[in-house]
Amino acid sequence: MVYIQLFDLIKVLAILFFFVLPGCYSEGRFEKTEFPQEPVSQNVPAINMNETPDVLPVSSIPEQIAEPPKAAAEMPAEEKQAAKTAAEKPADESPKATVVEPSRAERVMKAIAAAYPDRVGPAEFRNGDWAVPIRGVYYYYADARLLPEELRAQSVNFDPQPFYRYEKELPPWKTPSAEESERYRNMTKARQERKLKRSQHFFDALWRAQNKDQSYDRVKSIRFLGKPLFLHYAILEELSLVEEKILAEAKTNAQIRQWINSLDTVAAWNWRNIAETESRSFHSYGAAIDLIPKASATKGLETYWLWAVRSSPEWWAVPYSKRVNPPDAVIKIFESYGFIWGGKWNFYDTMHFEYRPEILILNDIPITGLH
Ligand SMILES: [Zn+2]
Repeated sequence: MVYIQLFDLIKVLAILFFFVLPGCYSEGRFEKTEFPQEPVSQNVPAINMNETPDVLPVSSIPEQIAEPPKAAAEMPAEEKQAAKTAAEKPADESPKATVVEPSRAERVMKAIAAAYPDRVGPAEFRNGDWAVPIRGVYYYYADARLLPEELRAQSVNFDPQPFYRYEKELPPWKTPSAEESERYRNMTKARQERKLKRSQHFFDALWRAQNKDQSYDRVKSIRFLGKPLFLHYAILEELSLVEEKILAEAKTNAQIRQWINSLDTVAAWNWRNIAETESRSFHSYGAAIDLIPKASATKGLETYWLWAVRSSPEWWAVPYSKRVNPPDAVIKIFESYGFIWGGKWNFYDTMHFEYRPEILILNDIPITGLH
């Protein structure tokens, strides 16, 4: 009798062990891997610099704007790890949590989807990361590398794409402290010693240009403020509207008229890397334009940090008043149609405008007419 009861007990335990418990476990796992931890939010809040692992922590350089991407190499290891943990940790796994902050990956990928609604599909959480589709191919956040599925495992081979803090207004000028100067010195040195190499897969797909010939096929010859240039066909309307607005404002704004007259050339398409890097310039796609003033209008002023190095080795200490800056109204018009201005970068490039609506969206700067 006792033997029979023991046998029954063993049978029950065996059934539990082999059939019931594994079922519960795999069901739990399924839920965890197949569905996003975070509720999908329709809003794309401004990005918080404190949790952007690929952007310099600019708090120590308050008068400057974050220069994008070198940070991965420059940030101290423990700071980088902390930033990474903060950015990538699932918002909160506690079932009691009611308010869940979207992760940086979610915010960036949703901003990208919102920035290019005709070319990029909606952001979704799939295979453990946020991703957006372009013509059926998904590009994953992959620690800001924006990689297709087959390259996700190789994200460490690339520098992150820059999703940086971009100020609405240029903050008041403040002479850099000795500490800040030291940091700029190190940043300049690091940039020269290790060439930045960002993944170009996503932006090649976005602009439909993987080589010079393809890229040349996508650009059209137009005139902007009377100067000829080659621009990507997808943003012809945006730049035309920028021009229209600038000319309208020029009627009542003498500073803008003077600035237009000071322009020497305008250059957009140019298949090349960013100077001193192995990363594709947005000029390669015809999605960036340089407004180059006449030499006579820029005497004693600096335009671009890399040119400034020759006359001012401490190029970062050149105050705004000694840089060639387009009128504020012109910068605002460009921004309102999705272009960022290179004059707001730490590594300033005051002649440079680039179509990056996702940067403006992430920084809560309104844009009109995205398509
Ligand atoms: Zn440029």
